[in-house]
Amino acid sequence: STVFYDEELLHKTILVGDSGVGKTSLLVQFDQGKFIPGSFSATVGIGFTNKTVMVDNVKVKLQIWDTAGQERFRSVTHAYYRDAQALLLLYDITSRSSFDNIRAWLTEIHEYAQNDVVILLLGNKADMCSRRAVKQDEGEKLAREYGVTFMETSAKTGVNVDVAFLTVSRELKNR
Ligand code: GDP
Ligand code: MG
Repeated sequence: STVFYDEELLHKTILVGDSGVGKTSLLVQFDQGKFIPGSFSATVGIGFTNKTVMVDNVKVKLQIWDTAGQERFRSVTHAYYRDAQALLLLYDITSRSSFDNIRAWLTEIHEYAQNDVVILLLGNKADMCSRRAVKQDEGEKLAREYGVTFMETSAKTGVNVDVAFLTVSRELKNR
């Protein structure tokens, strides 16, 4: 069997998607198990958070990076993508435009990220079904087209948040 050392398992994972889709909230929910209502300041990014995820009794260490609101100006630097081994691409199921922009994000990702980057497409705010603007089926279809894993999440209730990071960790481990 293979022995994994901690240093080998630090995987840079980045959060990407339009401003307001819930990237910071998703990371706070995963890291602290809580939801803080209201927008996080666009200028005070939380930087990165290190988290260890157990996959089949193996530790997978993630260094998860959140933007400091640069996505608002579509000025996420190319350096942000460069060393990323995994990428969580979010849209908001109540925002049609955030979903329509996913193709543009994927174009940028394919241009600047590593070829073997693990990508997970997440339809966030799944708790707000009454205001849904994007069908789950549309997310599934888009994910299939690009060959990436898809799920709907809620940073508010926590639905699928651990599952999303576990999925990324498993794909990283099995890559
Ligand atoms: P970011 O700009 O992508 O980092 O988005 P934020 O994490 O700052 O969230 C933007 C807004 O959406 C805030 O008001 C959050 O409280 C709210 N929000 C984020 N995730 C969810 C969610 O899953 N459900 C609901 N109902 N609100 C959310
Ligand atoms: Mg944010």
